[in-house]
Amino acid sequence: MASVWLAVLALVLAGPVPSALARARWPARVPRAAIVLWQAVALAAVLAAVGSALAAPEELLRALGPEQRTGTPLLIAVAVAATIAGLIVLRLAAVLVLLGVRTRRRRARHRDMVDLLDRAERSATVGSPGARAVLRVLDGAVPFAYCVPGRAPRVVVTEAALDTLAPEELRAVLAHEQAHLDARHDLVRESFVALHQAFPVLVRSRQARDAVGLLLEMLADDAARTRSSDTAMAGALEAFVVTGDTEIAARLERVRTLRCGDRRLATGIYLAAAAVVVVPTVAVVIPWLSAALPAAGLQ
Ligand SMILES: [Zn+2]
Repeated sequence: MASVWLAVLALVLAGPVPSALARARWPARVPRAAIVLWQAVALAAVLAAVGSALAAPEELLRALGPEQRTGTPLLIAVAVAATIAGLIVLRLAAVLVLLGVRTRRRRARHRDMVDLLDRAERSATVGSPGARAVLRVLDGAVPFAYCVPGRAPRVVVTEAALDTLAPEELRAVLAHEQAHLDARHDLVRESFVALHQAFPVLVRSRQARDAVGLLLEMLADDAARTRSSDTAMAGALEAFVVTGDTEIAARLERVRTLRCGDRRLATGIYLAAAAVVVVPTVAVVIPWLSAALPAAGLQ
């Protein structure tokens, strides 16, 4: 039954759980803990899928009778289990490597482009946004800012942003981008994009990727709020918000109404994240192994 339980668990962790998490409002209060929970759910879903693939052939053999548990049938069961589980892991690894190579290539081109288009006379007046990052100012009538992560990171703002933002708001924006770079939020985002691409199209959902993306923005907002102020961060988001942009509107509302941090809730979420990974192992995988190993004559 372990394979069935694990398959059900993988499906639940890939569908209903992300849907409920994406709809919940509490993650905005503890974005860091919420991201850890999303990572735990993703890891547990992959482990459950691999575990189910490993357990299914062996359990089928055990159900058929004692004479099937040795020799060729056992070898075939082990080979089938290893192939299916290996395919799942290989697909994930291949998507991750391919995505990593493409992303780094695209970033290098992007970095060259912003270096080329930089309004040097404006970026010189602002100075460096952080220890390693270099600021680039682009011509443009729409105020926005973003960062290009990697070994030679860039923080990019438009001239309109420099003209619109007050000095304290600009400091908050630069602190927000620097927080993304310091904490390597791009790697967290990349892992969820890879997971999204690796999932079969039928059960693929953008919820995890989008929700984690928004939580990373909230984390960077919180870092900027501690380095500047709530008022400065809210002012900057007000300048950036455009009609229909629900993400920036949600962040603005949060900065205005929510204080950073809720230790008790965060502790509960970290415990839940640990439980999502540990409980299935203790409740399903260990009992299966303790039945499967003696049946295969390995204990
Ligand atoms: Zn951001």
